[in-house]
Amino acid sequence: AEAESRFIAANPGSAERHKAASQAMPGGNTRTVLHFDPFPLAWRRGEGAVLEDIDGHRYIDFLGEYSAGLYGHSNPVILEAVRDALADGIVLGGPNAYEAGLASVLQERFPSLELLRFCNSGTEANMFAIQTARAATRRSKVMVFEGGYHGGVFYFRQGGMPLNLPIDWVIAPYNDIEGSLDLIKKHGKDLAAVLVEPMLGSGCLPADPAFLLALRESCTAHGIVLIFDEVMTSRLSTGGLQAALRITPDMTTLGKYIGGGMSFGAFGGRRDLMQRFDPARADAWPHAGTFNNNVLTMSAGLTGLTKIYTGEAVARLNAKGDRLRNGINDLARRHEAPLLATGHGSFVGLHFSDRPVTRPQDIDPAGEPKRKALHKLIHLDFIAAGIYMARRGYMALMLPLSDADIEKFLAATDEFMQSRQQ
Ligand code: PLP
Repeated sequence: AEAESRFIAANPGSAERHKAASQAMPGGNTRTVLHFDPFPLAWRRGEGAVLEDIDGHRYIDFLGEYSAGLYGHSNPVILEAVRDALADGIVLGGPNAYEAGLASVLQERFPSLELLRFCNSGTEANMFAIQTARAATRRSKVMVFEGGYHGGVFYFRQGGMPLNLPIDWVIAPYNDIEGSLDLIKKHGKDLAAVLVEPMLGSGCLPADPAFLLALRESCTAHGIVLIFDEVMTSRLSTGGLQAALRITPDMTTLGKYIGGGMSFGAFGGRRDLMQRFDPARADAWPHAGTFNNNVLTMSAGLTGLTKIYTGEAVARLNAKGDRLRNGINDLARRHEAPLLATGHGSFVGLHFSDRPVTRPQDIDPAGEPKRKALHKLIHLDFIAAGIYMARRGYMALMLPLSDADIEKFLAATDEFMQSRQQ
């Protein structure tokens, strides 16, 4: 209550904006994930790893736009690419040079992308990948995983989600080889696709490589299209987690930072599946989308991958994530505090747990109210200390974060644990 009162008193501008915006938008918000109570901070501008809110406070940004903000705010190299493209027009109504460039870089980097196409978001990429698999196999069911998120209409939590697309879903347990293979065996003949995140974004829970390998083998045996949703994990090596793990899916979906920070999605995979999108074919499948090749996204995306996110930059960013995760876990051990950092490379997830969390099933539903209260407390405490992350403790580190920023986070964590023990 004290942390909340302090937050309300410090942020009159954000409070006012929230109230005014709620007149036109339910909850004053157009992205559910950005909401937190009592009201979310509203931003004025961002530069590098620093965000400034409309009340004039400055924060180190550890949320990183849910991973789309990899390049940092107002990255000058990205801005220049956008300005260059803008000078020649926005959507030109025909193919442009940038899209071919971006497609060929992605094809070169991601082992599964024999052919690919662009769309406007990760959600859309998953819709097209799923429908491609269903059309190719002439099967109807799609396997996904408990706790998985593939977009606003693909949200798999216990109890079901009323807005999910009406596909015949088979929901399997994440990181559970036996449980998943049993379900594949049971539904095998009807399964068009298995759609899996190589790291569960919700909770930042990495897949066990043996689990992904088992899915790979079972999908091959049953003629099922294995789709890796690398919308988040594509940043973990230059060729995504698939290249790092050497497990090649049949199809891959991409999004987030690959558009340089603007709306972006891509789906692609095996040539025999993707070539049906060639409009010159008599039996072509249609794939439309007014903004699929919008010049600004394509230009920023191409520049970002080729001039900024090189192999060396990937390694440096992942090392920062390792330092942060290990630092938090060391502090938790030292304080004997039930705080746990999970994740992989530049992704870090915080859990209030005194046991390892490797699967959504490891999170005890009975402890939910207490966990929620602790997440709220650490979130508001860190805001007061000038550090911004997601309420649920999700972080996607961005390139301009400095070593000093990481140390500042660890110092705040140390202080949080000390204050909890008093
Ligand atoms: N898939 C994963 C793994 C995601 O994390 C997200 C977004 O957070 C999506 C798909 C949806 O992408 P978008 O928000 O661009 O529609």
